[in-house]
Amino acid sequence: MSTPAQTAETGPEDDETQIELTDGFHLVIDALKLNDISNIYAVPGIPITDLGRFAQASGMRVISFRHEQHAGNAAAIAGYLTQKPGICLTVSAPGFLNGLTALANATTNCFPMILISGSSEREIVDLQQGDYEEMDQLAIAKPLCKAAFRVLNAEDIGIGVARAIRAACSGRPGGVYLDLPAKLLGQTMQAEAGRNSLVKVVDPAPRQLPSNDAIERAIKVLESAKRPLIILGKGASYARADDDIRKLVEKSGFPYLPMSMAKGLLPDTHPQSAGAARSLVLKESDVVMMIGARLNWLLSHGKGKTWGTAPKRFVQIDIDPKEMDSNVEIAAPVVGDIGSCVSALLKAMCDSWPAAPREWTEAVNTRKEANLARMAPRLQNNNVPMDFHGALGALRKIVRERPDTILVNEGANTLDFARSIIDIHQPRKRLDVGTWGVMGIGMGFAVAAAIETGKPVLAVEGDSAFGFSGMEIETICRYKLPVCVVVFNNNGIYRGTDVNPSGGEDVATTVFVKDARYDMMMEAFGGVGVRAISPDDLYRAVNDAIDSGKPTLINAVIDENAGTESGRIGNLNPKSVVAKK
Ligand code: ADP
Ligand code: MG
Repeated sequence: MSTPAQTAETGPEDDETQIELTDGFHLVIDALKLNDISNIYAVPGIPITDLGRFAQASGMRVISFRHEQHAGNAAAIAGYLTQKPGICLTVSAPGFLNGLTALANATTNCFPMILISGSSEREIVDLQQGDYEEMDQLAIAKPLCKAAFRVLNAEDIGIGVARAIRAACSGRPGGVYLDLPAKLLGQTMQAEAGRNSLVKVVDPAPRQLPSNDAIERAIKVLESAKRPLIILGKGASYARADDDIRKLVEKSGFPYLPMSMAKGLLPDTHPQSAGAARSLVLKESDVVMMIGARLNWLLSHGKGKTWGTAPKRFVQIDIDPKEMDSNVEIAAPVVGDIGSCVSALLKAMCDSWPAAPREWTEAVNTRKEANLARMAPRLQNNNVPMDFHGALGALRKIVRERPDTILVNEGANTLDFARSIIDIHQPRKRLDVGTWGVMGIGMGFAVAAAIETGKPVLAVEGDSAFGFSGMEIETICRYKLPVCVVVFNNNGIYRGTDVNPSGGEDVATTVFVKDARYDMMMEAFGGVGVRAISPDDLYRAVNDAIDSGKPTLINAVIDENAGTESGRIGNLNPKSVVAKK
């Protein structure tokens, strides 16, 4: 518990007894601490400056950012990494709006997070009388998150925080908004009544057992498979059922594909990984079991060219029943939490579960080995300037040698190439742009990954992607975090070679300053800056950074001709049929 706000002297008629008081500030902090929440990602300002101060005074870790979107992204990924809601704290209206992108992104990605924003006085906001930072924040947040609450009375803070925690963590996790008007924070009440009003949430994410019928149905479909496939998603890595998932994959003998943040749930070098035979397994499989992954755009909605013409039947494990049949028919829905579903399936798979069809596993392995052999020499090139393969080959080696490093990754080509080239060896060690493919998560994710896990963080960033959150390297330096940022600098968005089609003086819309010295930005804040021009340089610099634990930015000079439009999703960019290039 934090220190009570004050002690009030009562009148002589009360025998000079002193009544211990608390207030809204302290109740919010006590409610969070009671629920084992110890970190807050924030940008201080009116009306929550003192909330941050008191939280720090009470022993909480309060990490102040330069922009709310990054504090929000930090909170979201803290939620993913810990299964407890990550807390983002912002000021009213503009600060709240800045945090909202992260809240919406958390909800889309199923990360538990609570955005707590101060707000202006209800009486003035509701009459639209023009208050300082006037905005009906609750109404704006509602459609963008899983749940939204406002607390008006100090005695309801305990309940408000409890509801926010439950909403964020239970069922499909997501973002929750908690609105705290300025006046609430200053409200006082008797400390003892305050303490009694707090709620310790019991079992915030209750297990949800699948029905026996659902398990039997799934087993029947799996038994009938000739060309089975398992797809692991970030729901599976979030669920922390690592051992049982591994047992299930190994007992089945099925090839499996990890979605990008599920890489490492089993090491990417696992013999059953079909990552290097992705197009083959998607096209040719006849039974596909999805575990905590959705058939959204990242999997071409489960249909079309990517999935080929072979008829397919899907088994899907998900905590959200509404996810079933969202894109294609699910033959065997298994609704429940992944831990319970996977252990029930394991039990139901008899000891004599047959080996996976040999013809199929051999076809997958042949394709996989051919693709890996083709890629290998490209990853070892030491070209100057670097191409994506040479640079990522060096980083791949580092992550293999230091498997507990957390990789943060965003960009276009930098993302697509890194996702397929850098093997991940342990669960929850790859954090990236997720379901939306959103840019700007980089430094926020890197800060929270370092704070929550204490592990070294390697953030591999396209030069454009880095720009969205680049100012937070000051935050990284201020808290002396073991973060090494590698900027893949090819002078622009996609690449740096576009020209202005009008012949005018302005550079093309996708081009940046040539040979920008991102490394010097890091030096400005006392961190280490390095300019690396070869894969060997890069390898050495990253090793030094991780060994020293010092905030480091490596400006990796990439050939400006390297890279393709929109990376691997160029098909999503509409093309004009009338414009002349
Ligand atoms: P990916 O992008 O890796 O495919 P998604 O975020 O699209 O992953 O899908 C994750 C899925 O996992 C969501 O449908 C979500 O409901 C589900 N999920 C998240 N946590 C759990 C859990 N503990 N148990 C079961 N399903 C979960
Ligand atoms: Mg670029």
